[in-house]
Amino acid sequence: ANRSFQPDGTKVPLNGSMMGGNKILVIAGPCAVESREQIIETACAVKEAGATALRGGAYKPRTSPYSFQGFGEDALKWMAEAREITGLPIVTEVMDHNLVPLICEYADVLQIGARNMQNFTLLNAVGESQHTVLLKRGMSSTVQDLLMAAEYILQHGNTRVMLCERGIRTFETETRNTSDINAIPALKKLTHLPVVFDPSHATGKWEYVEPLALAGIAAGADGLIVEVHMEPDKAVSDGRQSLKPDGFKQMMERVRRVAEAV
Ligand code: PEP
Ligand code: MN
Repeated sequence: ANRSFQPDGTKVPLNGSMMGGNKILVIAGPCAVESREQIIETACAVKEAGATALRGGAYKPRTSPYSFQGFGEDALKWMAEAREITGLPIVTEVMDHNLVPLICEYADVLQIGARNMQNFTLLNAVGESQHTVLLKRGMSSTVQDLLMAAEYILQHGNTRVMLCERGIRTFETETRNTSDINAIPALKKLTHLPVVFDPSHATGKWEYVEPLALAGIAAGADGLIVEVHMEPDKAVSDGRQSLKPDGFKQMMERVRRVAEAV
């Protein structure tokens, strides 16, 4: 992962563009896939606003086992339909190494969630798959821990790895997590891998998503992953931090302006 191996930076292909290239790429969509209609409608809305890829959880890592766990393979099928309609590639979380082959059939990018950043069996499995990976930083992991987790994937010759800063746990309770903006320039200096910022999980409140998205881009992030819901009040998970399509569209315009300015 060390930048000295690839001084010009690794570029990861995504929908005909390059994460780590000159353009800011944005992955957007709901926290969880809730229905066929929901994911298709949201995919159309985020595409219209300029998103590069569609996110959506089919298998959800919930704090409580009694919370909604995701629609599994049905959700993967609905996302594949949304991709057919919009052309947006699919980013979805894989929680279990046994599910890597199934999820590879449907998804373009395998997301490793914060809670699994050091699930080494899973990291080895996604490394072997040679599929593109979005590796999220653990909520109590250091930048060095994140880089060593990336090594588990890279050691299999899979270099299509994007790193994601998604906020860390601190003493602060006003926001869900604390955006570690420092980590963005630090990662850009230390590693050749592209860096994605997730202002949704980093803040936990939709009204802070746009300002932090802009901060992340100003700090040097190559892209963003943002939660968008048609009706956040009715979302089964993470509604509080989800932008509506209008808010997402406005964020995209301002992201473009900050990207041009830096
Ligand atoms: C998510 O992307 O919905 C998610 C669960 O993120 P994290 O793993 O960063 O908490
Ligand atoms: Mn979420």
